[in-house]
Amino acid sequence: ASDSQKLSLFYESGIYSFHDSKTVFVDSVRVLNRSYHRFSVSPSTYYSRFFKSPTNANPLSSTVTSSLAKRKRKPKPKEPRPLNETELIALQRHQEARPLLFAAHECLLKSTELLSALKSLKSESGSSTRDSEGGQHSFVDLARVEPQLEVTLSLHVCDADTDPHQPPNGLQDFPSVQCCEQKVLPAFNNLVANNTKDDAVAELLSNHYIIPRESCFYMSDLGQIRNLIPAHADFGFNLIMVDPPWENASAHQKSRYATLPNRYFLSLPIKQLTHTEGALVGLWVTNREKLRGFVERELFPAWGVSYAAIFYWLKVKENGSLICDLDLFHHRPYECLILGYSPGKVNNTDNQSELKRVKNDRVIMSIPGDYSRKLPIADLLLEYVPGLKPPRCIELFAREIMAGWVAWGNEPLYFQDSKYFVKK
Ligand code: SAM
Repeated sequence: ASDSQKLSLFYESGIYSFHDSKTVFVDSVRVLNRSYHRFSVSPSTYYSRFFKSPTNANPLSSTVTSSLAKRKRKPKPKEPRPLNETELIALQRHQEARPLLFAAHECLLKSTELLSALKSLKSESGSSTRDSEGGQHSFVDLARVEPQLEVTLSLHVCDADTDPHQPPNGLQDFPSVQCCEQKVLPAFNNLVANNTKDDAVAELLSNHYIIPRESCFYMSDLGQIRNLIPAHADFGFNLIMVDPPWENASAHQKSRYATLPNRYFLSLPIKQLTHTEGALVGLWVTNREKLRGFVERELFPAWGVSYAAIFYWLKVKENGSLICDLDLFHHRPYECLILGYSPGKVNNTDNQSELKRVKNDRVIMSIPGDYSRKLPIADLLLEYVPGLKPPRCIELFAREIMAGWVAWGNEPLYFQDSKYFVKK
């Protein structure tokens, strides 16, 4: 395809493939928006972190922080201390990935058309659906203090020819929800499903959450995850994405969510969640070397998952530059997705051939959203997923919901809050 054809494909799908097709650029907002009909993810809230408009920036605060930083800065050690054994292994891994990441980034920098398109990713039409400036709920606290809390799900059930009538109480701010069936359901430890082919709105303590078509969420602590195990493996999953709350200094400092020691992840019921025909498992890991070793030597073996490939997510700013230097030791501009196969009960040879087909070392570039929010990568994995088409998909430790997916975690509604959406 020519550059301009690629660009129009990008505007349609949110995915831009470079010549070698191992390298892609993703506009997460466009990809996510394929999940919605009547609402759309607001680019300015999604990209708020790396896309600050000059009017948002407070010059005073940056002066204050920089003078504070000056005062706090510790004297630099004269001699860098030698790297220990683990650090050396980490450095070696980085050196292996470096040429790929560098080449991918060069592709982006050379693509002038795409670079100029990036500048407009944030511009949007439509008004925010957020009625008041109310704060966001802490679902973890709510689950503790009000475990019986209910959620009101408004499903859009009428077809276009039926006369629209007034939206039900509490949904006047959502006039597009004109013809709906309401269901009141337990918010926690319960599978809440939008089985319709349209967006639904969930209301929880007067905040609204947009639930994409044919999706479910199960909001609970890890202790209840076994409730998701299907009675029969035919109802298991073909694609299992996992983004665990790994312990690390950054998650701890920012205290956005609680983290868990590695041993908790050993007992995730990956085998029991796997479909009869097998599953592709995608696991996000941080760059801590100890973690990589743990996944390879303990976690995947405990889950019965065989290693298949690694993908890199390279994070860039709106001008195409990396979010930080590629060679910073303790802060990398990339994260890794480790892919593996969980065998199903049927032993078909197709699974084996599929296994070999996973392209290793793909580099996926995007402008990151909020802290720790992963880019929607599932589209790029679909060709490697064994079994059913379309596959049955589940995300563990989810903070958002995609159309057709089951989202489990203790805050799967987090990014579904109406403040992240605009009305179409
Ligand atoms: N993939 C998500 C995204 O893109 O936004 C980020 C997931 S974040 C790394 C890990 C999530 O696990 C957080 O939402 C956190 O609240 C949740 N979590 C932490 N401890 C948990 C527990 N005991 N049970 C269930 N979820 C938990």
